[in-house]
Amino acid sequence: MGGNGAREDWAIVALAEIAAAPTVAALEALRVQYLGKQGRVTGELRALSGLPALERRARGAVLNEYKTDIEHALSRQREVLAQAEQTQRLEQERLDLTLPGVSPAWGTLHPITRVRRRLADVMLRLGFTLRTAPEMETEWYNFEALNMPADHPAREMHDTFYLEAPYVLRTHTSPFQIRAMRDAGGELPLRVATLGFTYRRDDDATHTPQFMQMEGLVLDRGIGLPDLKGVVLAVVRDVFGPTERIRLRPSFFPFTEPSAEVDMSCPLCLGTGCRVCHTGWIEILGSGLVHPRVLEAGGYDPGEVSGFAFGWGVERVAMLLYGLDELRPLYQNDVRFLQAFDAWDSL
Ligand SMILES: [Zn+2]
Repeated sequence: MGGNGAREDWAIVALAEIAAAPTVAALEALRVQYLGKQGRVTGELRALSGLPALERRARGAVLNEYKTDIEHALSRQREVLAQAEQTQRLEQERLDLTLPGVSPAWGTLHPITRVRRRLADVMLRLGFTLRTAPEMETEWYNFEALNMPADHPAREMHDTFYLEAPYVLRTHTSPFQIRAMRDAGGELPLRVATLGFTYRRDDDATHTPQFMQMEGLVLDRGIGLPDLKGVVLAVVRDVFGPTERIRLRPSFFPFTEPSAEVDMSCPLCLGTGCRVCHTGWIEILGSGLVHPRVLEAGGYDPGEVSGFAFGWGVERVAMLLYGLDELRPLYQNDVRFLQAFDAWDSL
């Protein structure tokens, strides 16, 4: 039943207030104000009992209609507010897909790995094959076969780590020469190189007990010092730059005859002389023509075949290439130090 005539003022005000409620809390206050135990509608309904029967029915119908209208208005406004809240939240929590993400930390190659790969690459391009050799060697391969008999003074200099006889931790990569020659079975020419760890009882700023060497060996008929110098120059220039110069200085190694230390022009001062090199030259590798006794130990006839060998420290190459004063940081696993080489190599 509808009321005949206009709504009473207070009911009109109630519906207007509800439709304008700005928050859920304000809406709840209005609900209490009109429908709560002390509310306007509740009070009006309670007052019905004092009316005569006929009047009470008519008034009751009007009040119930108001009550229903107010309930509907409350639930409608509740929905409006919920919608507004969601819109606002979506606005605030919007994902900006153009913002930069959190990138994972990339690993970088160890500087020694970088230099090792670079050296291996140079040797392969020069026509060498790469091979490995045992780090645990017999004394024969490490010394005797390389023209260092038991009483040879050079054996003292090597500060060898002795294992259960007859084994040692190899003190240099040179035993690989003997293994390569024996495996080749007299075949010519032989162009072979190796890269690997070697061990000596040595530990200071520029020495570690474990260090890496790269070594190359070439055998053929008529090989001489000019071949040695040409190949070493090509390797040095490939690694350090096309303007490097080298010089050979007479030296002594038991397994080569003649032997030569190779100096290269200092890459730091371009050969003009600096704090590091003093003279403009830097000692870089050891080399020489393969000693006849070494050729014999490898199964070749020194009367027919000659060759040269050269070897250098991979860490030393890394120090010169990256301008390091010390060798030890390369093996101390400080990630900040190691990551610096990424930037260097991308130059
Ligand atoms: Zn210099």
